[in-house]
Amino acid sequence: MSETFVYDFADGNKDQKELLGGKGANLAEMTNLGLPVPPGFTITTVACRRYLAESVRPAGLDEQIDAHLAALESTMGRKLGDPADPLLVSVRSGAVASMPGMMETVLNVGLNDNSVAGLSAQAGDNDRFAWDSYRRLIQMFGKTVCDVPGEDFEDAIHDAKTAKGVTDDLHLDAGDLRSLVETFKKIFAKHTGHDFPQDPRAQLDLAIEAVFRSWNADRAVLYRRQERIPANLGTAVNVVAMVFGNLGADSGTGVAFTRDPATGERGVYGDYLANAQGEDVVAGIRNTVGLAELERLDKKSFDELLAIMATLEEHYRDLCDIEFTIERGKLWMLQTRVGKRTAAAAFTIAAELVAEGMIDLDEALRRVSGAQLAQLMFPRFDLAGDPTPLTRGVGASPGAAVGSVVFTARRAVELAAEGKQVILVRRETNPDDLAGMIAAQGILTSRGGKTSHAAVVARGMGKTCVCGADQIDVRKDSCTVDGRLLREGDVISIDGTTGRVYLGSVPVQPSEVVQYFEGKLDPGQVHDPLVAAVHQIMSHADSKRRLLVRTNADTGTDAARARRFGAEGIGLCRTEHMFLGDRRELVERLILAATDGDRNDALAALLPLQRADFVEILREMDGLPVTVRLIDPPLHEFLPSLEDLAVQVAVARERGEDPGNQETMLVAVRRMHEQNPMLGLRGVRLGLVIPGLFAMQVRAIAEAAATLAAQGRNPRPEIMVPLVGAVQELETVRAEAEKIVAEVIGDAGVAVLIGTMIEVPRAALTAGQIAEAAEFFSFGTNDLTQMAWGFSRDDVEGAFFWKYLELGIFGISPFESIDRDGVGRLVKIAAEEGRAARPGLKLGVCGEHGGDPESVHFFHEAGLDYVSCSPFRVPIARLEAGRAAI
Ligand code: PEP
Ligand code: MG
Repeated sequence: MSETFVYDFADGNKDQKELLGGKGANLAEMTNLGLPVPPGFTITTVACRRYLAESVRPAGLDEQIDAHLAALESTMGRKLGDPADPLLVSVRSGAVASMPGMMETVLNVGLNDNSVAGLSAQAGDNDRFAWDSYRRLIQMFGKTVCDVPGEDFEDAIHDAKTAKGVTDDLHLDAGDLRSLVETFKKIFAKHTGHDFPQDPRAQLDLAIEAVFRSWNADRAVLYRRQERIPANLGTAVNVVAMVFGNLGADSGTGVAFTRDPATGERGVYGDYLANAQGEDVVAGIRNTVGLAELERLDKKSFDELLAIMATLEEHYRDLCDIEFTIERGKLWMLQTRVGKRTAAAAFTIAAELVAEGMIDLDEALRRVSGAQLAQLMFPRFDLAGDPTPLTRGVGASPGAAVGSVVFTARRAVELAAEGKQVILVRRETNPDDLAGMIAAQGILTSRGGKTSHAAVVARGMGKTCVCGADQIDVRKDSCTVDGRLLREGDVISIDGTTGRVYLGSVPVQPSEVVQYFEGKLDPGQVHDPLVAAVHQIMSHADSKRRLLVRTNADTGTDAARARRFGAEGIGLCRTEHMFLGDRRELVERLILAATDGDRNDALAALLPLQRADFVEILREMDGLPVTVRLIDPPLHEFLPSLEDLAVQVAVARERGEDPGNQETMLVAVRRMHEQNPMLGLRGVRLGLVIPGLFAMQVRAIAEAAATLAAQGRNPRPEIMVPLVGAVQELETVRAEAEKIVAEVIGDAGVAVLIGTMIEVPRAALTAGQIAEAAEFFSFGTNDLTQMAWGFSRDDVEGAFFWKYLELGIFGISPFESIDRDGVGRLVKIAAEEGRAARPGLKLGVCGEHGGDPESVHFFHEAGLDYVSCSPFRVPIARLEAGRAAI
C-alpha cells in the first residue's frame, strides 16, 4: 500500500492543516458540519513536497486521484469533461498558513472544444457563459501552468472590445467569445509550441503540478520570508466541483467576516459581487457592494449565510472569514478560516468572547500576540492643526503613515533604499507589488474593499493601508483627486483606521494604548473597548507569567518610562553611553595618561559625574534591582580615527607647524589600533588594563547607593562585569570591587550583588567555575550570537544574510530571534551548570532577544528569572512571558 496522498472532504477535519493545508482542512470541517460545500478532495502537502523534491508526481498519486475523481463523478452524476454533460473542477492551492493570492488556482478544468457545448446545455443553453468559461480556462491555464504572458490574453480581449466598439467585457456576446477562444488557443500554441490540451484528465494533472510548483514562485518566497513562514512546508491542492457565480443576476460571489476584522465589532461585514466568479472579489478588480445589500438581492441566501456564519463562529469560537458563491439562488461555501484581523480586533474580540463565556482568559491570552501589541503602540495622527483633507477610502489596515507618493512597486523599492518614506499609490495591488508594499510606509488604492489584495496583505504585515479611495484617478506616474494633480515626491498622510487621506505631512500622536501604559489613562475610567481589553489581557498575563521583565536603560528618563510600562528593574545599564559627549575628552585623557598622576586626575574628574548618573537611575528604580554594567566599549569608539589623525599630523608637518598633542595622540592611537576591535580590548579586558577605571565606577555606584540609603530610600544596585571568559577575570575584578563596596557602604544596609555577563562562548562552557564568583548571570545574547556564529554583529546583516535567508539556513536573523539550537544551547548549558554550582543563581538576559516574542518563550523554557529589553518592548515581553506560561 502506498502512502495516502488524497483525502475526500468527508475524511478530514480542521486539525489536519499540516497535511491538508488550511483550506482543505476547513473545507473538510465544514463538510462534516453539514454545511453546503461543493464536493471534492484534497491532495496532501506531503505529495507536494515529494513532487518538488523529485520533479515527478510521487508513485501512487495518479491512482489515488483516479479513485477519488471516480467517486466525485459518481456523487455529481457527471463525468469530468463529458461532452454532453461535463463535470468541471477547480484546482486550488492551500498551504498550512494562509498566503493570500500568493499561489495559483485554475478554474473550469474539464472544458474543451466538445464539452463547451455540454456546459452551455447545463446552463440552460447559455452559450455566452460556456464560451466565457472556456476562454477563462485557456487564459488561467496558459498563464499558470504554461507561463504564457498574461498581457497577451488581456491585449486580445482589449482588441476584441475595440473592434466591437465596447468597453465592458459583458458586452462581448457568445460569438465574440467563441472567436476569442480561437485567438487564445493561437496565443497558447505560439508560446508553448503545442496545442491547448483537450484531454480533461491531462488538464487536471498539469494544473495540480502547477499549483505544487507555485509554492516556489518568487512572490510566494518573498511573502513567506516577510511573514516568517518556513520554506519547506509545501502546499496542498484542493480539487473541487465547480459552482458558478457568473450565471446571471441570481448568481454571485462574495467574502464575509463574522465580525469586523478591523475593530472586532459584531455585525454583517463583507463584500458581494453579483454575476461574477470568485477571484474577481479577492483581486479587487470590480467595485463590490456591501454584504448587507445581498439581503435585498436574495433574502433566502442572505438568511442562510447569516445562519452559517453564526454556526461557524460558535464552532470555531472565533472570528471566521468566509468565501461563498451563489449559483442561481443556491448558496455554496467555498472556504472558511479563522480570519486574519487587525491587532485592535484581536484584543477586542478575545475580550468579548471572554465576556460571552465562549473562551476563558487563558485562551484569550493565547489569541493575542506581542507583535499585535506592538502594532497598537504605533502613533496616530494629531489632527489639531486641521490638515487639508485630500480624499477618503476604506480604512483597511490601521496606523498613520506619511510619505511621498510613488506609483510603482519598483519606485517604492528604489526610493526606500535611499532612505525615503513613500506611500505606494495604486489602482489596486496584485502579488507582483509585494516588494513595493514591503518597502512603503503605507499603501493607498483607488479600488477594492477590505478584502482586496492590498487590504489583506497590508493587514498581515501590520502596514498602514487605505483602499478603494475611488475619487483618485491613478495613472502611470501621477494621479488626480478632484482635479488636483499629484506627482511622485508629493507628500501625503494616510490614516489606516479612518480611511482618511491628507495632503502634506500630518503630525502624529501616541497611541491610546501607550497612554494607558504610561498611566495617563485611569483603567477604571477607561471606556474605550480596546484599552479595556488590553488592560484585562495584560493583567491576566501578569498574573500568569513566571519571568520577570526588566528594562535596558541608561538614563533616568528611560528608567522612569520603563517603570510606568511595568519594568521590574533594570537588567542592563550600559555605562559607556555615559562617557560620550562632553565627557569624551576626560576619557581620552584617561586612556592616554602617561603617568599615574594624569590618570588619577582624569578618574577623579569622572567620579562625581558617574555618581550623579547612578543616583538618578537608582532613584527612579527605587526598591527594584538595577544592574549596572561596568564599561564595555570597543576602544576605537572613544579615540579619534587613526586616518584623520594621521592626515592632520601630516598636514601640520607639511606646513612646517608643530603637530603638538596630535602627534602624541597619533602614537597612542596607533599603539592601540586593533584590526578586530569587537574581539579586542573591551569589557573586562579594558578594566584589567586601565588601572582604576572599574574601581572608579564601583565607587560611584556604591556612593550613589549610600547617598540614597541615607535619604531613607531602597537602592538595589547589582554590579555586572562584561565580556568575562574565564573565572580568574571575574575573581580579580570582584576582589577589588568587594573592598570598595565594603569601604563605602559599611553598615548602611545596602546589599550590592556582583555578577557577570555570559556573552563569550567560553563563559557559557565554563559556567560552573564562573558561578563560584558570580551572584548572577545575565546573558548578553548579542555578543553570544556574534561569537557563537562568528558573524560580526556590525557588518553581516547587509553583507550576506540575504543569501542565508534565501537558502533557508535560517528563517530570521539570529540577532533578532534567538538561535535555539546553537546560541540557545549555550544558554541552557550555562544556566544548568551555573545553577548546579550555585543553587539560586539569578539568571537573566539583556541582549536584544529579551524583547523578541519567540525568544521570550525560549527563555521561559530555559528557566531564566527575567528578561530585559528596551522600555517600549516591556509590555510586549510581559504579554509574551504570560503566554509562555500558559
Ligand atoms: C550583549 O552582548 O548581548 C549585550 C547586551 O551587550 P552589548 O550589546 O552592549 O554588547
Ligand atoms: Mg555585549
